[in-house]
Amino acid sequence: MLVLMNVNATDEQTQAVCKRVEELGYRPHPLPGATRCAIGITGNKGAVDADSLSQMPGVAEVIAVSKPYKLVSRDMKSENTVVRFEGSDATVGGTELALMAGPCSVESRDQLFHAAEAVAKAGARFLRGGAFKPRTSPYAFQGMAEKGLELMAEAREAFGLLIVTEAICHESIALVDQYADMIQIGARNMQNFALLKLAGRSKKPVLLKRGMAATLDELLMAAEYVMSEGNYNVVLCERGIRTFTDHTRNTLDISIVPAVKRLSHLPIIVDPSHAAGKREKVAPLARAGVAVGADGLIVEVHCDPDHAFSDGAQSLYPDQFASMVRDLRGIAEIVGRTMYQPTSAAVTK
Ligand code: PEP
Ligand code: MN
Repeated sequence: MLVLMNVNATDEQTQAVCKRVEELGYRPHPLPGATRCAIGITGNKGAVDADSLSQMPGVAEVIAVSKPYKLVSRDMKSENTVVRFEGSDATVGGTELALMAGPCSVESRDQLFHAAEAVAKAGARFLRGGAFKPRTSPYAFQGMAEKGLELMAEAREAFGLLIVTEAICHESIALVDQYADMIQIGARNMQNFALLKLAGRSKKPVLLKRGMAATLDELLMAAEYVMSEGNYNVVLCERGIRTFTDHTRNTLDISIVPAVKRLSHLPIIVDPSHAAGKREKVAPLARAGVAVGADGLIVEVHCDPDHAFSDGAQSLYPDQFASMVRDLRGIAEIVGRTMYQPTSAAVTK
């Protein structure tokens, strides 16, 4: 159920509706739009008694939402969500393409800083780097944990980047929440519902990667978990799915981008690195991602990929990343997006 307020409804009227929803034993989710506010209602098992709400001052309409996902749906909010970050003018979902780049894992101060400097110079606004790594083998490098987060935070200050890093469990999400600008939930945890609820209680934007066997509906329901806890700043990410092909690590399902745009107001970015698995395929897939209408990219970059602790084969060298970004500028313009142009002073430290 969702309550659509009048264009000229006052804040007091919106608050009064929220209060009434609470009195009925449900949870209100006010999502202000460009022209009017919509209030999503969750926590109800069946239909909500619409009459008691539809007569309230300022209410335009009470609408039943038939889809299983409600807060992520375009029915709830017709215009695109633009995710913003405290202390920065970078956005995800606005006109500017969001460019996130950096190593798969944080390995050392030197490794992280070299990569951070390179991606900042090329035009990235976000530094990626995992401090908690979900690895297939328990014997593989598991990440530097809190020390890795400290280094990410240092790199943020040194290069003026926002930091996005993965949380894999209850303990790590508490730490990631303290340090990061954006909490990444990885493909393997897309349906870790307890973790999604914790991300939903954070004030930080969440980057939610599609599970490698997840359908569009399952991805949207995972985002609904986060939003149902009150965190409305969710960015989806297509990173490739498992198919029968073996010429890539995963199959980049770029068709999910327009499919998401049709059903949801949430931004979606593309990760060409985990789809490709091999660095020579990363730039072509990144170009396809921008062309298909993604709101940004997340790309793995390493200065010495042959010695990377994880995902070296799919990591771009800094000069390859810079040349990929230059090529993307032309495509971005055609699809009506802008790209950040760094000033050299901003990245020299
Ligand atoms: C990563 O971003 O390094 C990662 C582990 O990604 P995914 O969850 O998409 O496999
Ligand atoms: Mn990786």
